[in-house]
Amino acid sequence: MDAVVIESLEPLIAELRSRGFAVVGPVVRDGAIRFEEIASAGRLARGVTDDQEPGRYRLRETGDEMIFSFAASPDSAKRYTQPPRQALFRMRGERIEEAEEEAPRIALLGVRACDLAAIGVQDRVFLGGRHPDPAYRLRREALLLVAVNCAVPGGTCFCVSMGTGPKVTAGHDIALTELAAPHRFLVEIGSERGEEIVRALPRAPASARDLADAEEVSRRAAGRMGRHVETEGIQERLSAHDSPRWQQVGARCLTCANCTMVCPTCFCTTVEDSTSLADGTAERVERWDSCFTLGFSEVNGTPVRGSNPGRYRQWLTHKFSTWIDQFGMSGCVGCGRCITWCPVGIDVTEELANLP
Ligand code: SF4
Ligand code: SF4
Repeated sequence: MDAVVIESLEPLIAELRSRGFAVVGPVVRDGAIRFEEIASAGRLARGVTDDQEPGRYRLRETGDEMIFSFAASPDSAKRYTQPPRQALFRMRGERIEEAEEEAPRIALLGVRACDLAAIGVQDRVFLGGRHPDPAYRLRREALLLVAVNCAVPGGTCFCVSMGTGPKVTAGHDIALTELAAPHRFLVEIGSERGEEIVRALPRAPASARDLADAEEVSRRAAGRMGRHVETEGIQERLSAHDSPRWQQVGARCLTCANCTMVCPTCFCTTVEDSTSLADGTAERVERWDSCFTLGFSEVNGTPVRGSNPGRYRQWLTHKFSTWIDQFGMSGCVGCGRCITWCPVGIDVTEELANLP
């Protein structure tokens, strides 16, 4: 099916909901763009953009009618592919209740190219090895992805360097490009189920001008990256284990783990058990963890990476080097979240540029 144009997102949201999907999209909440379930397009963020710099994130009103004029938000698709906390099983007395084997049907609206690439990285991690994760598979199969081509990259974005954006090219069911004057959306199809949904919408064939305007959105976005990473020879540079740069960045790093929590590809978890004195039940839960926590590398009561420089080096070298050895792809998609949400403004692109 060729590209079409729709005038409003309302029929798309209604169609997705009528097919049993919970529609999750970007809204303004707590001073940030967050993903949340929506019932109509009126709830979507509109007329706002974001200013992102190392350790800084602010929303700013634009006064226009555009819906997707912002870059990566603190939430990513990871929240839905790999929830922050999930029960593995519960015990009542001696009876064990396995975790639910169904995943909610979610249509994620507004996913960017870098986040589609991140989902691709997660697919490789969770499904690509000899021991695929069945719970992850269920969640992925239940997820429908309505992507949006980025128009306004953030000051910390570098998807062009990582070859993941800003234009959506793979991994989506439907891709939108928001166009102005008049306000409308170019719709491109990425899968059979995406096509089925778009065929049910009021639409018009895309004109030559619509296609040219959409190309221009992606061309301009590619030219407005806030950051750059030189990927040529990156693995060799990261093998400099004795560089003084590790001590310098380690002295700044708070090991707070913010960077790994917001990263759409970081997948480390831990397992916790809890018991309830009230009703005699016990629960085993998997929750996000981080290579920045002391306990994460604990062996026989002692952390293997006890120092801040050691933990920062582990994270950076895994993301940009040993991930490639392990999974055949980079662990970074250039979304810039770890830079924006680092409380002391540590910038991976600056650290990479200053390694020997
Ligand atoms: S790099 Fe920044 S966000 Fe990451 S652990 Fe260190 S201080 Fe926290
Ligand atoms: S390492 Fe930073 S820039 Fe790369 S994917 Fe993770 S959060 Fe995004």
